[in-house]
Amino acid sequence: MGLGKAHSDPFTVARSKLCRAEGGKTGDWRSSRPEIDRSKCIPSKTGRKSCFLCWMYCPEGIVSKTIPVEIDYDFCKGCGICAEECPVGAIAMVDENGRD
Ligand code: SF4
Ligand code: SF4
Repeated sequence: MGLGKAHSDPFTVARSKLCRAEGGKTGDWRSSRPEIDRSKCIPSKTGRKSCFLCWMYCPEGIVSKTIPVEIDYDFCKGCGICAEECPVGAIAMVDENGRD
């Protein structure tokens, strides 16, 4: 059996399109959540629509591209990618239960 058309075409690449909140509502299992320090966040500080790396990298697509940036906690999984990618350290992962 031969390969399908997509596999035999060297110019076809795999890609995915982000869908908002595809993972569904998070419920109560999340152990930590991201909190944005608006005094550090570039759009809030400058009043310009710039940066938005958190919006770009969030796998759930639930960070807004607005000023200020907002996170929809109903769907946030607490993965911490946004905090890792923020270039100015404006996002801290905070324990949901107040533990250190
Ligand atoms: S912790 Fe993960 S799911 Fe939540 S806003 Fe950041 S990147 Fe998105
Ligand atoms: S990545 Fe950091 S600085 Fe950039 S918009 Fe998000 S929170 Fe603000």
